[in-house]
Amino acid sequence: MIDQRRIKKLNNLEIADGDFLVYWMQQSQRAEYNHALEYSIIKANQLGKPLLVYFGLTDSFPEANLRHYKFMLEGLREVSKKLEKRKIKFVIEKKSPEKGILHFIKKPVMIVTDRGYLKIQKHWRKFASEKLKCRFVQIESDVVVPVEEVSHKEEYAAYTIRKKINSRLGSFLIPLEKETPYLSSLDFQYENSLDLNDIGKILEDMNLENVVPSFRFKGGFSRADKLLTDFIDVKLKDYNEKRNDPALNHTSNLSPYLHFGQISPVYTALKIKEFKGDGSDAFLEEMIVRRELSMNFINYNPMYDSFESLPDWAKSTLTLHKNDKRPYLYSLEEFENSETHDRYWNAAQLEQVKTGKMHGYMRMYWGKKIIEWTRSPEEAFQTALYLNNKYALDGRDANGFTGVAWCFGKHDRAWKERSIFGKIRYMN
Ligand code: FAD
Repeated sequence: MIDQRRIKKLNNLEIADGDFLVYWMQQSQRAEYNHALEYSIIKANQLGKPLLVYFGLTDSFPEANLRHYKFMLEGLREVSKKLEKRKIKFVIEKKSPEKGILHFIKKPVMIVTDRGYLKIQKHWRKFASEKLKCRFVQIESDVVVPVEEVSHKEEYAAYTIRKKINSRLGSFLIPLEKETPYLSSLDFQYENSLDLNDIGKILEDMNLENVVPSFRFKGGFSRADKLLTDFIDVKLKDYNEKRNDPALNHTSNLSPYLHFGQISPVYTALKIKEFKGDGSDAFLEEMIVRRELSMNFINYNPMYDSFESLPDWAKSTLTLHKNDKRPYLYSLEEFENSETHDRYWNAAQLEQVKTGKMHGYMRMYWGKKIIEWTRSPEEAFQTALYLNNKYALDGRDANGFTGVAWCFGKHDRAWKERSIFGKIRYMN
């Protein structure tokens, strides 16, 4: 059974007459350890109906480009194959998902979806909830502890949320049972279905900004699982000691996979916990406490993508130092093309542009220096977000908005006052 605290009704309608139960997959893009999928199978079995899984592919997801879509479609191709083995038909259609789901089939008995916290993800679900004619239920599967179970307000920092999360892990960090559908839906035919065996063709037909795909990362659960296994075997024991050294590549590199829901945080945490040596606590602090602090931020602060989201002390100290002389000033284009005077900064930006990921420690330095070398903190905030979201495979994520805001004082405390930065933390 799925814990009731992961389940939320998005409308008050009853189960309808119809032929299929539909899981509208949007955030949790995986066939493994997906609470929304397992819940859908349980319900479909109870109602005696086959299950269809639907995905709406829009080419206008804010700030997503060719690089992101290729990675995502690689993951979805694997989802489709894995579901087929479980006798479940996966349909992907080129349509804005909140509209596509309304017309996908005439009479669904019930629609289940997963949960996302970005404004657009909330908007899609709200839009569908007002129009659907059958029961519509959301299952939260991309966090260990559901966001409202942790807190009903925006938390101040990691130290205020840590205990609230850790004290609830006992009931949420538990294995998820894999269900078996009683009925197959593989005979279902849908004429608008895209062929995931030809991702090149799907991408060609989309109207996308051309950011070269990453040669370093390939999408899908299998890749993520392999990275996780290798990480546990090789890096976890001295993760704490080496993770902040950008020369070592001693982190898990799971963030792109977590971002697209290609691997479950519950599954990841359970595997990490099996490892008894040093390193697991430090990793779980990042992957659960810090990551879920980010979810808390974007869930409760609708201005998460702007300077306005910062705490008052950070905004006022940065504003007070707005006219301080900057040692260097760069345009967005110069930043984007790694044309600063600082070869470490340039190398970090270049790593992101070429591979789709920047080392976590360099991300902090990178963000802080954008503040130092830009005309105003507001402009710096937008520059950092723009570059992060455009080039990072894990960009446009709760962690990305929070990571950028952190450079400007979010979830941090005041430090000794200095030029340009005021009381926000400085890095060199
Ligand atoms: P690991 O060290 O292996 O950590 C495992 C997981 O823990 C990560 O995948 C991530 O989910 C979580 N995690 C690790 N560090 C943090 C952190 N500081 N805050 C929240 N969660 C964390 N993370 C993103 O996922 N997407 C982004 O777009 C993003 N942009 C950032 C921008 C800036 C300016 C900063 C300072 C940080 C940003 N981060 C972002 C947070 C962090 O840098 C990355 O999560 C981390 O580098 C991902 O690499 P990894 O998976 O190898 O990390």
